[in-house]
Amino acid sequence: MALRTIRTEGDPILTKKCRPVEELTPKLRELIHDMFDTMYEAFGVGLAAPQVGVLKRIVVIDIGDDPIVLINPEIIETSGEQTGDEGCLSVPGKSGCVTRPNYVKVRALDEDMEEIELEGTELLARAFCHELDHLDGKMYTSLVEGELHTVVYDDEE
Ligand code: ZN
Repeated sequence: MALRTIRTEGDPILTKKCRPVEELTPKLRELIHDMFDTMYEAFGVGLAAPQVGVLKRIVVIDIGDDPIVLINPEIIETSGEQTGDEGCLSVPGKSGCVTRPNYVKVRALDEDMEEIELEGTELLARAFCHELDHLDGKMYTSLVEGELHTVVYDDEE
């Protein structure tokens, strides 16, 4: 298991546009592996490569169903609307209210560089939008309606 350092807001790498993956090299496979380790360690549901300092169009997501790897992803369909709290591993301890589509269809390459299409609603749709925004240097904080809130952790247990 190899953990990478999660870049936090203010790091200029988070505002840069990522480059497409041409070939899935062993180094990039290792990156994907490390991204999952780093995301699980931080109790996140999604992580984009720029958050660990790599400007490549790679995203990992796991909302508790199955681990998802998206390479060079693009949103090809959306519908509906959902408004709810959103957070980001690059903005630790904060959350804010963001409106996103309630249904999102994504086209991407998988770990075999084969084209896949995935659909998501609710949390998964939100994760697709949030993580894909990272690949274009866009942080959810620019979309927050109202104030960012400080997340209070319940450490009674
Ligand atoms: Zn994020």
